[in-house]
Amino acid sequence: MNAHDSEKVVGTLLAQGYSQVAAPEQADLVFYNTCSIRDKAEQKVFSRLQQFKKESGKGKTFAVLGCVAQQEGERIFEKAPHVSLVCGSASYAKLPQLLVQLDSGGRRVTGLDLDAEQAFETSLTRRGNPHRAYITIIEGCDKSCAYCVVPFTRGPERSRACESVLREAAELAAAGYTEIQLLGQNVNSYRDPSPAGWDFATLLDRVGRVPGIRRVRFTTSHPRDFVREIVDAIDANPVLCNHVHLPVQSGSTRILESMRRLYTREQYMNRIAWIKAARRPIAITTDIIVGFPGETEQDFEQTLALLDEVGYDSIFSFKYSPRPNTPALQLRDQVQEEDKSRRLSILQEKQRQIQIRLNEQELGKVEECLVEGFNRATGQWIGRTSRNKTLNFLYPGGAEDLAGKYVLARVTRAGPNSLAGEYVN
Ligand code: SAH
Ligand code: SF4
Repeated sequence: MNAHDSEKVVGTLLAQGYSQVAAPEQADLVFYNTCSIRDKAEQKVFSRLQQFKKESGKGKTFAVLGCVAQQEGERIFEKAPHVSLVCGSASYAKLPQLLVQLDSGGRRVTGLDLDAEQAFETSLTRRGNPHRAYITIIEGCDKSCAYCVVPFTRGPERSRACESVLREAAELAAAGYTEIQLLGQNVNSYRDPSPAGWDFATLLDRVGRVPGIRRVRFTTSHPRDFVREIVDAIDANPVLCNHVHLPVQSGSTRILESMRRLYTREQYMNRIAWIKAARRPIAITTDIIVGFPGETEQDFEQTLALLDEVGYDSIFSFKYSPRPNTPALQLRDQVQEEDKSRRLSILQEKQRQIQIRLNEQELGKVEECLVEGFNRATGQWIGRTSRNKTLNFLYPGGAEDLAGKYVLARVTRAGPNSLAGEYVN
């Protein structure tokens, strides 16, 4: 989502007459787009700002965007006095205006309102990838998970009108894009604000029918709002990729309750059962937090058991990180850092074994890949399957550039994190 925000900001600035340079050292104006989801990401912002200023920041103007900007607001000017502009994601539409203020002598300008009524749309987006494009369908989040800073940094939910999403998809197809990834903190709570009033499953189905679009992905799904119609839509249209990212966070209902996730382990497993009952083999991935306050060894064991039960194709896993303003700060029984680290490595090792086992089942299969690029070191092309697996393959056809093409490859080797294979004519 941040990557796509940056694409929108870059496009907006280019339209204002700015030009983009290859390295920050060459810039007069340096933007940092920031993340505050965990403390480590936030700390990195301040150390990078300091380091860059020391090494090559002379005479430059600095701007901080994103969630750290929203969360810290004017405190950023105290922590990093060389910063002149601070702007959260809900105020990006105002960036041109803020830059004019800076240009006309303003020393410190901010865009920190969270009461935007609409998602930030712009036809100016300058995308970095020529084949795969992000489209924001909903911004902000109305959930209040006890550990999470997003509702404070990205504000309440705002869905985009369905016509606007479909228009952007059609424009992308006309510009040669073939894969679209629909974005939102919780795409499942998408609600079309126009009279059509579409829900997410309907929007997904319609985006999957835009001529020229060959793949559609979406992220992220919240289990509470994930409905069976989404699986039906995937089943009915091969353009919708065989992949659902369904963050569980914990396998213990007790911890889920204290996280305020609004579902139990059993309800989550019901959703998994829908996905597994699909006619197409849908890959399932998730996010997990270990060491949430009050998490006992038994709770953690339940998360480990859940990994086996679901058989995730991959996971993102994190140690719980206390965040400002969040309700979890008030909880007692914080888990010791060494226990968090131990649990994280046990979890990751278990998942590694699961991925080795699952990926071995892919041996011999022929998969359609969107070719992402060429790896000079290995001489292999890098492909991605509908199930979002990386499939590196050898191509006997010589110097032809396959990037952006859809090709078939047979899986001949399986590792924990990727597959390898050969081109099939
Ligand atoms: N909207 C998405 C998640 C966005 S944040 C959802 O609800 O699934 C991405 C992931 O970061 C979360 O799924 C969670 O696993 C992790 N995360 C969020 N806050 C965290 C925190 N305080 N500490 C550790 N991990 C966190
Ligand atoms: Fe954060 Fe929960 Fe919203 Fe996801 S659903 S962004 S974890 S508050």
